[in-house]
Amino acid sequence: MMMEIKEVVRLCVCVMCPSYIDCKEEIAFCIAENRKSRCITKEKGCLCPGCPVQDREGFQHVYYCVRGSEKEQH
Ligand code: SF4
Ligand code: SF4
Repeated sequence: MMMEIKEVVRLCVCVMCPSYIDCKEEIAFCIAENRKSRCITKEKGCLCPGCPVQDREGFQHVYYCVRGSEKEQH
């Protein structure tokens, strides 16, 4: 990964996403290690395709909160 974790967290737009449910979890599910969301289960749209992290890291998946991180989905 090229970006620093705190930079990914800063840019992450998960909290504005229609699928997002806040259960005191961290965000930036694309880089989370073996930690899908325990609360988000319904895919109601994903803002990852418009997130700068996706572009800068060359990530190619979506719904990281439900389906797992970029690494897990490969
Ligand atoms: S790609 Fe998705 S999960 Fe990753 S930082 Fe952006 S909005 Fe958050
Ligand atoms: S990973 Fe995608 S679907 Fe999940 S909360 Fe973030 S933007 Fe929404």
